[in-house]
Parts: sequence; C-alpha cells; structure tokens
Amino acid sequence: QGGGGAEGFDFGRGGFGDVFNDIFEDFFGGTRRGQRAERGADLQYNLELSFDEAVYGKDAKLKIPRWEHCRDCKGTGAKTAAGLKVCSSCKGAGQLRFQQGFFSVSRPCHQCEGAGQIISDPCGTCRGRKRVYKERLLSVTIPAGIESGMRLRLANEGEHGESGGPPGDLYVAVTVKPHPIFTRKGNDIVCDVPVSFVTAVLGGKVEIPTLKGDTIIKVPAGTQHDKALRLKGLGAPSLKGQDTGDQVMKIKIQIPTKLTAKQKELMTEFAKESGMSMDQDGDGFFDKMKTLFE
Ligand SMILES: [Zn+2]
Ligand SMILES: [Zn+2]
Repeated sequence: QGGGGAEGFDFGRGGFGDVFNDIFEDFFGGTRRGQRAERGADLQYNLELSFDEAVYGKDAKLKIPRWEHCRDCKGTGAKTAAGLKVCSSCKGAGQLRFQQGFFSVSRPCHQCEGAGQIISDPCGTCRGRKRVYKERLLSVTIPAGIESGMRLRLANEGEHGESGGPPGDLYVAVTVKPHPIFTRKGNDIVCDVPVSFVTAVLGGKVEIPTLKGDTIIKVPAGTQHDKALRLKGLGAPSLKGQDTGDQVMKIKIQIPTKLTAKQKELMTEFAKESGMSMDQDGDGFFDKMKTLFE
C-alpha cells in the first residue's frame, strides 16, 4: 500500500488518504502505477458448540463461501493477454493528476475505475470480475477449553483482495450452548449440588454428575450452605499451558418444607438440647447481634 516515502503511514482509505499519499510521493519522489492492490475483506463465521465440545475441543468442518482469485485468467479478468488493453485515459496509471494550487492532486480514473487497464475480452469464468465466489470446506481444530465469546483468527482464510490483493483473515466466533447442569467459570466447571440438611450436618456421601459420568463425593460433617467442594482436574483445559480446571460443586442445603408430627417433635427436641428458646421472638437476628456486642 502507498508508495515511496509514504510507506508505513496509514491514512485510511478514500480521498483524504489519496491526497496525502500523493503529497508524500511528490515530496519524497515515490512512484505508483496502476491500482492499489487492496487486501481482501475479513470474514466471520459464527460457530455454535455444545458445552462438551467447548471443554474437549472439536475438529470442525466449516463451509466458507468467499471471493477468490479467478484461476482461469490468473486474476486479470481477461480471456487472453490480448484481451487486456492499457487504459487510454490514464495511460495505465489508474489515476488522473491535476494541479490544485500548490499541490498536485490525483483521483482514480473513471474510464478504467482505477485499474489502469480495460478488459476488452473478459474471462468466461469470472466474466471479467477477476474473482469468483466459491464455497470451500475448511477443517478447523477448535482447541479444548475454548469459551463462549472467544474468536479464533485464521490468517489468510478471508476473501482474496481485488486486483491480486492479499487475502483477509477468517474469524471463527464461538458461542457455547448452555448446559442444563453445568456452567463455566474460566477453566472451572461449576454445578449446584442439592444436599439434605441432615447430610450437611452429619456428613455423608452424595452422587453427583460430571462430564465423564456420575461419581460419588464425600460431604464433610458441618458443611455450610454455598460451600464449594472441588474435584481436581475435572474442569476444562487451559488454552495456554498445561493447567486444567476443577469441577466446583456448590452445596445447596435443602430445608424440608413439610414435617411429620414425629419429625417436628425430634426437631423441637434438638432445639431444646441445643439450648435454643422456642419463644416467638427468642432467637431472632437482633438478639444474636445484642449478645455479640455485650
Ligand atoms: Zn484509466
Ligand atoms: Zn477469470
């Protein structure tokens, strides 16, 4: 892009950039011939993955339609070399120069639309467009541990530029479908585990699901609500490095809403044994606060 002394400057596209590039050329003695070979457009493919696919990775086959250089005419747009004529208006420069005050200004040639050449005998395959629209099947390795919202960049897999410009990039934007049980928190796989208040108090074993099948975990006696228990290494692998996340189980203590007369009696017995007052407002929040500050 650009030419001569303007190399490395990026003034963007359009009239502004053209004028300034031209000034640089005039000052630094650069030259430019023919149309600027613009880079092809970037493409985005939206890929939806299941929860498991995101954790373990996937070899995906993606159908990607894109504009590619026409092979039959080698991107010239003409059937034969003789079918390509130098534009008489700009004499192949693709630009028309004119003086505007102190500056020499150039504008793209309308006759050849900036190409510098006129196709008199168009290629039958691309009909003179120089590119063809083709669908390709692309094999893409989705890395294990990818998360919803991440984008993979596949360099040069975007569209080919017009007039032989380099290809753009292909972005694969990943969305992960929600799982009925699990959620991701970074590399950890998180799930809620309902546990009876009796098990939480006395301790016990609970069967839980993992992505690799059901297993049994030990709930220690005196486990509090929302306590997080971990199964090491059962999470998703890290995209960088060798780390693997854990499965994190959030204990959700279940309080019974209906008690039999016998259960009620036992609970009352338990309260008495614990020295709790069963009065209407005997064990309230503010009483506890009071004892805390006395
Ligand atoms: Zn021209
Ligand atoms: Zn062609």
